[in-house]
Amino acid sequence: MNTTRSEEMYKIALDLMPGGVNSPVRAFGSVGRKPLFIDHAKGSHIYDVDGNSFIDYVCSWGPGILGHAHPEVVEAVVKACFDGLTFGAPTRKESELASLVRDCIPSMEMVRMVNSGTEATMSAIRAARGYTGRDKIIKFKGCYHGHSDGLLVQAGSAALTQSVPDSSGVPASFAQQTLVALFNDKDSVRELFDNNKDQIAALIVEPVAANMGVVLPEEGFLEFLREITQEHGAVLIFDEVITGFRLGLGGAQEWYKIKPDMTTLGKIVGGGMPMAIYGGRRDIMENVAPIGKVYQAGTLSGNPIATTAGIRTIQLLMEGPDIYARIEANAVKLADAFRARAKRLGIGLHVNQIGSLLSAFFTDQQVKDYAGALSSDTEAYAGYFSHMLENGIYVAPSQFEAMFVSGAHTDADIDRTIQVLEL
Ligand SMILES: *Cc1c(COP(=O)(O)O)cnc(C)c1O
Repeated sequence: MNTTRSEEMYKIALDLMPGGVNSPVRAFGSVGRKPLFIDHAKGSHIYDVDGNSFIDYVCSWGPGILGHAHPEVVEAVVKACFDGLTFGAPTRKESELASLVRDCIPSMEMVRMVNSGTEATMSAIRAARGYTGRDKIIKFKGCYHGHSDGLLVQAGSAALTQSVPDSSGVPASFAQQTLVALFNDKDSVRELFDNNKDQIAALIVEPVAANMGVVLPEEGFLEFLREITQEHGAVLIFDEVITGFRLGLGGAQEWYKIKPDMTTLGKIVGGGMPMAIYGGRRDIMENVAPIGKVYQAGTLSGNPIATTAGIRTIQLLMEGPDIYARIEANAVKLADAFRARAKRLGIGLHVNQIGSLLSAFFTDQQVKDYAGALSSDTEAYAGYFSHMLENGIYVAPSQFEAMFVSGAHTDADIDRTIQVLEL
């Protein structure tokens, strides 16, 4: 594979941006390669600047459920551009998107639009703190909620009693407000609530974890989170930035039939443009400015271009034909192909799959939490990544990311991918 032009562009970028990228995982660091520079993408395929083409299973890390440059989304966006890119004033489209979201996810009684998932989770937590008058929050090890200070936190050496920053630059005093529990471990959650009575403002969770690779909640785990938060007067926040409109129109909360107090959305809800949303119970959201005392604002929030992309994407998902059944069936086929490959090569592999999300972990263990994910052989993953790339398949350059199947993946794409897995 010729990558001369990518390498030239990478060299230039390295001098201009840290690691040559604007988001760390793009640097291909954990698979020991240099990043490919992308020229364009269409449908299921992505094309680099050297003219190599790939079947894309990264899908911009989730937004691309309809595939790249869906003609109807692009047309709507282009048309909207001619009417002005941003006004900083209300538009009809914001209510249109908010109402589509509420139709699909009824727990989001009232919403606020922002520009990234990071902003959505940060703002949802602030609203929960304003509502409860409490400071502490609980998050889970291995769940990712964006890069705000309070969420880049890990459990300290004294595990569940003390938290420490997970990034340089995060004050230790901020980290102490965030308690870290273990995914699928009810006792770890119970202990934190018991030891911090009347202090927990919110518990935030990816109902299906998809940022340590895909890890499903065990039966009863989300029900338990619903009950214990209610019992302690804490706000339950489902971070559905990945699962929203991915596991179906109603996201993970519809799939598992659990109603959180608040929800955050991003990725698909912006149809490929910078758009994210937080929202939930009206009595909580009424604490947000200008009607409440929780301040939160944004120059480009709810801008007409991102709003248009989101509306058109959701409309296409609603109109059908039902793409959800098809992308799930394709994900099941891929999961089977991974298992067959592992058996043939005699390697440890564990596949987690739900809807159109899947992860193949290079480990013998069941993966039901972060420790399980970490048991993966990342060198084996890097080998698999290169094998796929060299054969025209673009998968995530990290063991700890999901594989996304989109509506643009054709039967031929899936067959070709399975063929490469058989090589
Ligand atoms: C991607 C992601 C975020 C952060 O969204 P950004 O738009 O990258 O800031 C938050 N939560 C989850 C679950 C995500 O997958």
